Amino acid sequence: MNKWFLSAELFSLIIILILMLNFYERRWRGFPQRKTYQLCLLTSGGSILLNILCVYTIYYAWELPLWVNLLCNSLYFLLIVAVSTIVAYYLLRLLFHHIYQQRQQRIFTGILFVLYLFYFALILYNLHSGILFYFNEDRVYCRGPLINVGYGIMGIQLLMLVYVTLRYRKSVSLPMRRVMRILPPIILLLTVYQLLYPDVLFNGGIIVAANIILMVNFQSRRIEQDTLTSSGSRNSFHQELTLRLGGHQHFQVIIISIHKFGSINHRYGHEKGDHLLYEIALWLERLHRSGNSYRVGNVDFTLLVPYTGMVSSRKLLDTICQRFSQPWDVDGTSVILDTTFADLICTDQDWDATDIMEFLDFSLSLAKDRPDRTVRFDEAVYRRMEQRNQIIKRMQQAVRENLFQVWYQPIYHCATGKFAMAEALVRMMDSEGNLISPSIFIPLAEQHGLINEIGSITLLSAGRLLENTDPEQLKVVSVNLSMQQFMSADLVSDLQALTERFHFDPSRLKLELTERVLSEDIPRMKQMMTELQQMGFLFSLDDFGIGYSNLSTVLDYSFSSIKLDKSLIQGYSDNKQFAFIVNAMLDLFHHMGCQVVAEGVETEAQAQALISRGADWIQGFYYAKPMPEAEFLQFLQDQNAASPEN
Ligand code: C2E
Ligand code: CA
Ligand code: CA
Repeated sequence: MNKWFLSAELFSLIIILILMLNFYERRWRGFPQRKTYQLCLLTSGGSILLNILCVYTIYYAWELPLWVNLLCNSLYFLLIVAVSTIVAYYLLRLLFHHIYQQRQQRIFTGILFVLYLFYFALILYNLHSGILFYFNEDRVYCRGPLINVGYGIMGIQLLMLVYVTLRYRKSVSLPMRRVMRILPPIILLLTVYQLLYPDVLFNGGIIVAANIILMVNFQSRRIEQDTLTSSGSRNSFHQELTLRLGGHQHFQVIIISIHKFGSINHRYGHEKGDHLLYEIALWLERLHRSGNSYRVGNVDFTLLVPYTGMVSSRKLLDTICQRFSQPWDVDGTSVILDTTFADLICTDQDWDATDIMEFLDFSLSLAKDRPDRTVRFDEAVYRRMEQRNQIIKRMQQAVRENLFQVWYQPIYHCATGKFAMAEALVRMMDSEGNLISPSIFIPLAEQHGLINEIGSITLLSAGRLLENTDPEQLKVVSVNLSMQQFMSADLVSDLQALTERFHFDPSRLKLELTERVLSEDIPRMKQMMTELQQMGFLFSLDDFGIGYSNLSTVLDYSFSSIKLDKSLIQGYSDNKQFAFIVNAMLDLFHHMGCQVVAEGVETEAQAQALISRGADWIQGFYYAKPMPEAEFLQFLQDQNAASPEN
């Protein structure tokens, strides 16, 4: 008579029930291959229940028809190997999750399927032959010679998983690596125990161990998922790149950046804005069968797909651009998003994940200026990025070693014919002594936190120049203020300290602001400007005529002068429409009590026309280019001595 100990199976059943409750209660969205894991839990529970049932049907074998026992035991045998097949399939899917080797994955899945089919056939054959188990004439359960074939199949499955893990180890994720370190030895140990003590029913214990290991290790994947959309987070994108690169895989990454999304939130509410982001993530996720999508910034998405050739990669990028040129539905309204795109193809270059992120960010920054708003990262883009990095390095060095120079461009005063004003313009040379345009390095300095240092250098130099010049010779020096400088809480005290240190009247320093600077935090800007004006500093609105050129900016703030941008001036003498606009502006600003500085005057015709039309100041290469301080002082002396007033 068979005697089995059921306590381990009952205990295992309780643990499986707890795992199920946990799984359903928490609704782990991020749990990988949720459905397969769910199937695994259900078959595990089912197999343990069947095992317990079998113990009773075997005890009461005489009171039951033989087929009941045969059926129950055969089903149990099938189910227990089904559990191990599902676990193996689950792990195989996860192992290949970061590997674009679909053929290999299909082969291994095929092997799992064939093994199971073989086992199924064996179970059927067993009904007649009893090679696995049988009931003797006394209806006693007996083990057949091949009773342990199920364990053999489990062993083959484990070996397969170990092989895949070792073969693609660089593309195996951290949780998966952990599972593959723990699972095989534990299963092996428990199986040996079961084989040594067959009377203690312990298969449930093996199953439970596998389920717990999976749950504990993959539960942590939740944090890798974006909380708003169903796509991966920036962190998981980084990890995914590392795994793909580690496995020398070829892939394409597309980045999509949405601009001015704040206005959508503002107009339709944050909830609708969030929903739109969710819709976009969903669309991206469904776009490509082998693709993974991520939200890598607030409104930046990436899609990672296997690279299968130039044509298909271009086609995918076009499909995305095409979709974003169409409207999205927000609360019943069609909205077209302002979007830029960049993509990159990695075919085993020597890059790491951080490099790729940087390449994508840089490509995106270029995409804004392209008509199709798209940049594909290539050799040329890489060279531009290198140049930019060189400039950033050079700026850092220039800050450290005090290599910046401040040059001055004289500004002609039309009424007196004197150069009574100058604009301070910062200069930086590359290592070979060639000038790098501030239009290139100033925006980079703003992005890389160096603008305050550069601003201080210009202010110090302007202060020293004002101290060393006679107000009769040089009335005013103007300096450009960047957004960060103007937002800085220290600006007022810094300027105060500057006037005290160099003993000049604040009305000799003019601060040039652009509309971009003023558009940031309007109440604060106004307060700052009022405070500085009360101290005596002058303000000038720079670059009027480009961008929005909003007249309300001029009305809202009290500028002592407006600088008309060179783009307006350069068409002045030979384009009637430009002349019409500039003339109207001259009248308008004069009526508002502002002086007008015409910038970028390059020809005599422009200068004459502007003078005759009443421009107050002229700045331009026609009169003088920006020059080093010593040269500028000489220029002042020469020119003002020769001016008509003297
Ligand atoms: P901006 O404030 O509009 O400065 C005037 C720019 O126009 C200067 O370029 C000047 O050299 C150029 N310019 C003057 N007359 C002519 C002309 O007749 N024709 C042409 N084609 N250009 C003319 P620069 O020095 O290259 O400066 C470019 C920009 O860099 C400046 O534009 C300003 O926005 C920024 N910048 C320069 N120095 C500083 C600084 O110390 N601080 C900050 N925040 N920005 C600065
Ligand atoms: Ca300026
Ligand atoms: Ca300007």
